[in-house]
Amino acid sequence: MNAGALNPADAALQRSFPTVMVPRREPVAPMQAAGERLLMGENGVFLEIDLPWLSVVRRIAHYTVPTAIPYGKVAESTELRCGAVPPELIGEFVAMARAAHPLETGAWIVWNVETKRFRLAPVKVLSQGTGSLKYERPELLASELRVIDCHSHGAHPAYFSPTDNEDDRHETKFAFVLGNCASSVPSMAMRLCAKGIFENVERVPSSWYAAARAEEVA
Ligand SMILES: [Zn+2]
Repeated sequence: MNAGALNPADAALQRSFPTVMVPRREPVAPMQAAGERLLMGENGVFLEIDLPWLSVVRRIAHYTVPTAIPYGKVAESTELRCGAVPPELIGEFVAMARAAHPLETGAWIVWNVETKRFRLAPVKVLSQGTGSLKYERPELLASELRVIDCHSHGAHPAYFSPTDNEDDRHETKFAFVLGNCASSVPSMAMRLCAKGIFENVERVPSSWYAAARAEEVA
């Protein structure tokens, strides 16, 4: 290897996930392309994920020694660039989950970055049980991005299982679980997954429950 030249494999990895020193006197330059980077700030180490539909900045480490770090402060932020997901699509998924009950099923809510529209894309089920689901990702257009990864729990309540935690660990998405699928008011759980960060959404929009009830009447 030439002196000073990093090996190609590490060079590619570092280009895909750079580390940036946050300036004190001006905002940090925005990312040039969709992806991830580390922000080194005075107040810790932050992960920034920048996707066409979502931008998030979260602190992932604190300094353990009170040493002076000559960088700027970083603030956590969340920007949902795709806008709100139409409740009707949750209603469509509720209908799917009720049809599959007591077996589990799944679908993605995807957003088309060109048309700015959402649609429900059912996963390709490989095997489904009353407490398990194996599937392949749905076929998407090149312009479609997954926003919500939905699955159902049949007769069981909505919650995130250890299997769900394992499945969601490396991904950036919202995860949505529908439980008690035969009930007129199914249970719902949602969280933001951002490369190992899990943040529960405390309140699922009330319009989603309304959409679930509408599906039952229809
Ligand atoms: Zn689950």
